[in-house]
Amino acid sequence: MKASEVLNDLRRRFPNEPEYLQAVEEVLTTIEDAYNEHPEFERYNLIERLCIPDRILSFRVSWVDDKGQVQNNMGYRIQHNNAIGPYKGGIRFHSSVNQSILKFLAFEQTFKNSLTTLAMGGAKGGSDFSPKGKSDMEVMRFCQAFVAELWRQIGPDTDVPAGDIGVGGREVGYMYGMYKKLARENTGTFTGKGLEFGGSRVRPEATGYGNVYFLLNMLATRGIDIKGKTVAISGSGNVATYTADKLLQLGAKVVTMSDSNGTIYVPEGLTREQLDYIFKLKNFYRGRIREFAEEYGCEYFEGERPWKVKCDIAMPSATQNEIDGDDARMLLANGCFAVSEGANMPSTPEAVHAFLDAHILYAPGKAANAGGVSVSGLEMAQNSQKLVWSAEEVDAKLRSIMADIHEQCRKYGQEESGYINYVKGANVAGFMKVANAMMAQGIL
Ligand code: NDP
Repeated sequence: MKASEVLNDLRRRFPNEPEYLQAVEEVLTTIEDAYNEHPEFERYNLIERLCIPDRILSFRVSWVDDKGQVQNNMGYRIQHNNAIGPYKGGIRFHSSVNQSILKFLAFEQTFKNSLTTLAMGGAKGGSDFSPKGKSDMEVMRFCQAFVAELWRQIGPDTDVPAGDIGVGGREVGYMYGMYKKLARENTGTFTGKGLEFGGSRVRPEATGYGNVYFLLNMLATRGIDIKGKTVAISGSGNVATYTADKLLQLGAKVVTMSDSNGTIYVPEGLTREQLDYIFKLKNFYRGRIREFAEEYGCEYFEGERPWKVKCDIAMPSATQNEIDGDDARMLLANGCFAVSEGANMPSTPEAVHAFLDAHILYAPGKAANAGGVSVSGLEMAQNSQKLVWSAEEVDAKLRSIMADIHEQCRKYGQEESGYINYVKGANVAGFMKVANAMMAQGIL
């Protein structure tokens, strides 16, 4: 089947999975030329096999809350493709989680992992359980119940989960503890673990730092210095806070952060002390970003996203489809010249087209936020060797991987005018490696 026929067929078969179809469409429309150069791909129906996950596991997760009441959530693991390595991808705990969202994330993850230069296939998992407002004990009981079902399907050489929205060090620790107890082994089947039990240095920082390193590579193509630039960030979780951390180290001005309730605006740029406050607020007190505005008396946009403020650079780091066409046009009108995505698919198709049409520097999540899974791959390597690398060593490898991903995007995405279409570059580079591996291994 031709790429466009596959897309129509998927639309017919999965009409209730808009996020999945959105991600597939974005990739298929950009790889069509590369695909058509290889008639053998069509003979092997490669695209359809690459778009449909190898396996979807779904299960009930029953647990007991602090009031003694039994709660039931849905749990999922999408094992999308393992042509180039073990299934690998995070676990998301959020009330919005459903099969479509996890299928889109697992699909994206396959291309992202391919770009990292490491041997990792793509997967994603999660639950519609929300840790928000739950006690530590409730979160622990939920994580244990989730893994009691999942543990048979994962392992150090088969499928290695990690964190994502709603799953940080606390949740990974609880899940890994239960996994270890049931599987009776200690090989590090989760990444993002605590440093005391097999975690890698720089893993918590990796997605945010990696995104900034990717941005630096993009800016270098136009001779732009990050110092003094104004950056709007969305989110205030793992990716957002470490993005801000690295930007502050480099002398940039971070003017916004947000959560699902609203946005704080600090036109003069967050200070180090203010960023530390946000980190503690979110990680230890599990509070709301509004409390920052109350503490420091800054502007707070209730129920709004950051994109109306004046900025040079936007780094969306919260969730999918958080920049729509209007937001994109507003950013461009305000002089924004670079968008580097920490979140997965944060820009709607209309927003992506607006950025590409304006020829600004625009990095899709699968390239710009691949630093997280890259250091997860490095965590797997350390676990296999039973070694621990220094922060400097991991950070140097992360920088080099992000430069490598940038180079792959340039190679496949540079147009005759010189403009680098990072969307096309990332999709084609990610696709070719997985496609060649699938061809070599036969029809499975
Ligand atoms: P966290 O749970 O640590 O933080 C998520 C942040 O985004 C919170 O501030 C949260 O606000 C906000 N948010 C979540 N959902 C929504 C929503 N529907 N609307 C508005 N705000 C929302 O997650 P991460 O920082 O780990 O992940 C953020 C993004 O980065 C996701 O897209 C994830 O897939 C992607 N990513 C993460 C990686 C990682 O290593 N962690 C790796 C690569 C990509 P609130 O607290 O109010 O929910």
